[in-house]
Amino acid sequence: MTEKADLQSVLDRAAAGGRITPEEALDLYRDAPLHALGAAADAVRRRKYAGIEHIATYIIERNINYTNVCVTACKFCAFYAAPKDTEKGWTRDLDDILRRCAETVELGGTQIMFQGGHHPDYGVEYYEKHFKAIKDAFPQLVIHSLGASEVEHMARISGVSVEEAITRIHEAGLDSFAGAGAELLPERPRKAIAPLKESGERWLEIMETAHRLGVESTSTMLMGTGETNAERIEHLRMIRDVQDRTGGFRAFIPYTYQPENNHLKGRTQATLFEYLRMIAIARLFLDNVQHIQGSWLTTGKEVGQLSLHYGADDLGSIMLEENVVSSAGAKHRSNRLEIIDLIRKAGRVPAQRATTYEHLVVHDDPANDPVDERVMSHISSTAIEGGTAHPELKLLATN
Ligand code: SF4
Repeated sequence: MTEKADLQSVLDRAAAGGRITPEEALDLYRDAPLHALGAAADAVRRRKYAGIEHIATYIIERNINYTNVCVTACKFCAFYAAPKDTEKGWTRDLDDILRRCAETVELGGTQIMFQGGHHPDYGVEYYEKHFKAIKDAFPQLVIHSLGASEVEHMARISGVSVEEAITRIHEAGLDSFAGAGAELLPERPRKAIAPLKESGERWLEIMETAHRLGVESTSTMLMGTGETNAERIEHLRMIRDVQDRTGGFRAFIPYTYQPENNHLKGRTQATLFEYLRMIAIARLFLDNVQHIQGSWLTTGKEVGQLSLHYGADDLGSIMLEENVVSSAGAKHRSNRLEIIDLIRKAGRVPAQRATTYEHLVVHDDPANDPVDERVMSHISSTAIEGGTAHPELKLLATN
């Protein structure tokens, strides 16, 4: 274990841009004073964003949940319906999906997140058809969706390689992968919550393949289902190692597990301090990942504001539709003006961003703030047919 005096020298080295080892990261995560950890992370953020360090970003997007039918049966998921459960299971047709895309465009949204279960009939062809239809009708919408788990599943259904699956859905319109299904990458905590999902190594292998094929992604971490601090740092190490080879992870987004209405009994959530420490240690340890995203949706607006002082440069999305999160316990919602105000009160200039993080609108003059209050997060389990809690989808919503 690193001595107290040495902790500060490790922090100083990290703040100056030096790489830290996983062992050092674990010591800092566990033992460094919270504010010192945040100050070091903020120093790194300021240097990485020199010239625009006064700005914090957000994006306007819509989640589209296309089915809850799933064969993977993750223990923490109360959303899915087994294929034979025809009462609970539902699918959404293409017309409905296109209508939701049209509303997204009308409200100034730039990104859609296609999320759903691992349907036993949905191979590569299903996604090709839907992405092509969306892009034909709305070429301006960025499809930032799915993840390694969906790729593994659709490739298996269609009897093709993951390379072919990725290439085909990319050609059909998928722009980038969300960090879906990362959960916890180390074997023990992953098996405990999602035993039928691919291994963490396989998840990374598929993401690495996507990056090699020109499809970038974000990366995530689900905190608070019983993993140890060492396993959290190991998750970061696994991401950093792949990023050293590909550079394809645009962002890292930790989020906290929401405990309501699912089957993981006796699990406690990560505390907000643990969450802030993770934001900070991610900024320090993931020296090769450009963006660290604070997630106000699951932690609350005030913690979202604090995350901007602990290394985060982005506050994620205003979701025009998020149907599942409230039933799983996350009750925070906001409209665009609130997010703008929230960022301002954290001492930053808000900017709406694109999926690839370019600034679309910089809100540097309150007199010019947008006034359309329809641009807000709609979080309602009643807005989706048969909708119930889906912890993974809820959390992926911030990707
Ligand atoms: S979390 Fe996703 S993959 Fe797992 S059971 Fe639920 S819908 Fe299926």
